[in-house]
Amino acid sequence: MMEASISEIFCSVQGEGPYVGSRQVFVRFTGCNLDCPYCDTPCEDTATCKLEEKPGSKIFTDVANPLSTEKVTEIVSSFRNIHSVSLTGGEPLLNADFISALDIKAPLYLESNMTLPDMAEKVKDKVSYVSGDVKLIPRSYLNDFDSYIEDTIECFKTLRNRDDRDCFAKIVVSKGTNSDDIESVIGDISGYISCLVLQPVTQKELLPEPKQLLELQENLLDYTDTIVIPQTHVMWGCL
Ligand code: SF4
Repeated sequence: MMEASISEIFCSVQGEGPYVGSRQVFVRFTGCNLDCPYCDTPCEDTATCKLEEKPGSKIFTDVANPLSTEKVTEIVSSFRNIHSVSLTGGEPLLNADFISALDIKAPLYLESNMTLPDMAEKVKDKVSYVSGDVKLIPRSYLNDFDSYIEDTIECFKTLRNRDDRDCFAKIVVSKGTNSDDIESVIGDISGYISCLVLQPVTQKELLPEPKQLLELQENLLDYTDTIVIPQTHVMWGCL
């Protein structure tokens, strides 16, 4: 029996990217292979998975971890009229075998940091949507920046956009974001994605100037369709 540690399962709407507003069930896995300096997502293992009783109610039932593929399939299948099931984290690809074994009818929407190419290979025929982050982590945080970027490119290649799968990239942009680094990576992955989403950072003090963002968009449009979409959950206080 395949099991995974999951911190929460709830129904809400997608808050980021081109599918913003689409109704989804979110399955948030614990654990992450990165340690981004700006991370605001709790990634540690939890004794229980919080299961929201009614969408938007913020009333949760605790289910003991780890959960089996059968249990997750049963919980997710109890929600109706959903666009897709968001597999998020942490880093969901750490649970690639578990994801491969899920028997969920709704399309799977993978939200990944795109740094685990071997794991991406395992789920490539299972997911219908890929929201792939390009994490511009400062070089000082990584042992080998070049191989980190190579892994990112390899992941996009494996999970690339095709007729039966929409793969798009997302980059969180802040005041200090290096435009040259972005252009270099997007140049390498532009053939694998349907579009690039520039997401202004949510913290007000780090917000890029509109001029910076619009200039970046103008340059990136040379490589791929590039749209600017802020994170929307915070605007109306939903999960
Ligand atoms: S990849 Fe995401 S969850 Fe993992 S450390 Fe970075 S920001 Fe946090």
